[in-house]
Amino acid sequence: MSDLQHFIDGFRTFQQQLYRDNERLAAKLAKGQSPKTLVIACSDSRVDPALLTGSSPGDIFTVRNVANLVPPYESDNAYHGVSAALEYAVCYLKVRDIIVLGHSGCGGISGLLSAADGEMVGEFVGRWVDIAAAARERALARVGSDDERELSCVCEQEAILTSLNNLRTFPWIKKRIVAGSLQLHGWYFEIETGQLLGYSAETESYEVLVEEYSS
Ligand SMILES: [Zn+2]
Repeated sequence: MSDLQHFIDGFRTFQQQLYRDNERLAAKLAKGQSPKTLVIACSDSRVDPALLTGSSPGDIFTVRNVANLVPPYESDNAYHGVSAALEYAVCYLKVRDIIVLGHSGCGGISGLLSAADGEMVGEFVGRWVDIAAAARERALARVGSDDERELSCVCEQEAILTSLNNLRTFPWIKKRIVAGSLQLHGWYFEIETGQLLGYSAETESYEVLVEEYSS
């Protein structure tokens, strides 16, 4: 059996659930989308934001890339995939919330930390994750490099804050935040425990949104 057969069977189940069991939603989706939330997540296969949040088609507009990073606003002729998605979500769909969703054990952040030792990962990955170089420096200053796991965790969480700061450099995002029609959120999913944390600007720390899984 082809590796892809699993996905084709999965699609058949999805098709039945949407078109047979939820005709109203299918008809609504056929007319267009109006999600109110943008999620910026990692490409990592374990952190699909729609699966994690129990979302239905049409609920969230999603950007996924290595290490869930947002580059700063740049006005030049380069191809800006993340910025284009942000523009579409904020200026056209008029989302009300943007969630930057990070996670533990992030390979992209691991690459960012390796770069501190002069090891650039790949042709594109190292350059891309360098967006969060300041997060790496903050994490190193806070916890040092002795405990690798702690350093990764702090760096992953700091990188979310870098992305939130970079979001505020986009003039149309800043304008909507000031007007009170858009809110930014930093979430961190800890894969080992099933815990979900959210950044609190008030306490300047991550707080528990959903506690660790216990049976
Ligand atoms: Zn990741």
